Amino acid sequence: MQTTSFLDFKTQAESIIHSHIINAEPLLLSHQWDKLQQAIESIRQKVKKAGLWAPHLPKDIGGQGLTISQLGELSAVLGRSPLGHVCFGCQAPDAGNAELLHLYADKRIKSEFLHPLAAGDIRSCFAMTEPAMAGSNPTRLSATAELKNGQWHINGHKWFTTGADGADFAIIMAVTEPKAAKHQQASMIIVPTDSPGYALVRNISVMGSEGHGYFSHGEVKFSNVVVPEQNLLGQRGAGFLMAQQRLGPGRIQHCMRWIGIARRCFDIMCRYVNQRQITDQQTLAQQPVMQVKIADSYAAIEAAQYLVQATAERIDKAGYAAAKHDISMIKFHTAQMLQNVMNHAIQALGGLGVTDDTVLSFFYREERAARIYDGPDEVHQLSLAKQLLAQYR
Ligand SMILES: Cc1cc2nc3c(=O)[nH]c(=O)nc-3n(C[C@H](O)[C@H](O)[C@H](O)COP(=O)(O)OP(=O)(O)OC[C@H]3O[C@@H](n4cnc5c(N)ncnc54)[C@H](O)[C@@H]3O)c2cc1C
Repeated sequence: MQTTSFLDFKTQAESIIHSHIINAEPLLLSHQWDKLQQAIESIRQKVKKAGLWAPHLPKDIGGQGLTISQLGELSAVLGRSPLGHVCFGCQAPDAGNAELLHLYADKRIKSEFLHPLAAGDIRSCFAMTEPAMAGSNPTRLSATAELKNGQWHINGHKWFTTGADGADFAIIMAVTEPKAAKHQQASMIIVPTDSPGYALVRNISVMGSEGHGYFSHGEVKFSNVVVPEQNLLGQRGAGFLMAQQRLGPGRIQHCMRWIGIARRCFDIMCRYVNQRQITDQQTLAQQPVMQVKIADSYAAIEAAQYLVQATAERIDKAGYAAAKHDISMIKFHTAQMLQNVMNHAIQALGGLGVTDDTVLSFFYREERAARIYDGPDEVHQLSLAKQLLAQYR
């Protein structure tokens, strides 16, 4: 059910996407990072002035307090541009990190890290995945944190730490309880990135681009990093459980963001084939093979959106546990839909599709990973299949 105020929220967001955010995309596509940052800051001021900032966060910390379903719908609007979430202050990984701090941090951590993060004054990253261990099974980590004389001594080697470039603090997942059951060994600890022993080794080059800032994935080392005992978030050994809680809302928002991306790719494809003459009499749009792709893409996007919205509504009504099965289903189903639609759009644009003159190539490069991060397809397929098969025993 949509309230009038939420409809108004969405309409305003759409207007900012179309009149400001999409215009800033050429700066991203041409890697003009300083100018891009200035453009983002200027759009953020408009978003804040319009009362749309940080839609995912509760009102008491400066957010808009939207429900999971509303956030999902908004994500589909913001997802139309790679800059949408960044300009509205709800980009990964800051969004999930702020939610964690809101739930688990004490007063000092909230004032030092959460409040400036929520305001968009500082940035953060989330360091769980390691080059030496299978990230698909996050109960297997080699990073350690030992408590000695009231301080955590942290050692670890992480990678794919999104946004580590320019982050002010990292939340690291490290083993603090090596003798506990495997789901209770790791904890989350805040590490300011100016701590001695913390090093951003490099921005990993992903499909030809090292990216920058928000649009980068770092390799990070923690060598005898020492932080106060109070930098622990939540309980010792609760890191795995908290990571699952962090990923729950994140998956709905990723899926709806992918739907926004798919719709943008679809728009670009339809506009192009309608105007592209392939003979004096005919456009690409008149070719049956193209019409089949248009119809298939549209049906796939609509079906995915219904599925994701139904899952978001179930979470709002009954909580995450009741929607576990659906969350696995939408994660791999929507990521695969996105890949197919992006692929059709690039093919339809021919050579132009693979250039950086449109946003398609950026989406294709960045979002191939949708089928890998937050749990690869296979992990979600296995989880869903196990739950389904159990019903037939
Ligand atoms: C763009 C991007 C951004 C990311 N951002 C972050 C971040 O900010 N912080 C962070 O900590 N991590 C991040 N990650 C890491 C991500 O979560 C991991 O890449 C993911 O969990 C997979 O782990 P892995 O890369 O070690 O692959 P592996 O675990 O080595 O798996 C490799 C492949 O094996 C297959 N597979 C895995 N398990 C099974 C199974 N049980 N059965 C069958 N097949 C299987 C899958 O196809 C999988 O892709 C990011 C990754 C990417 C690509």
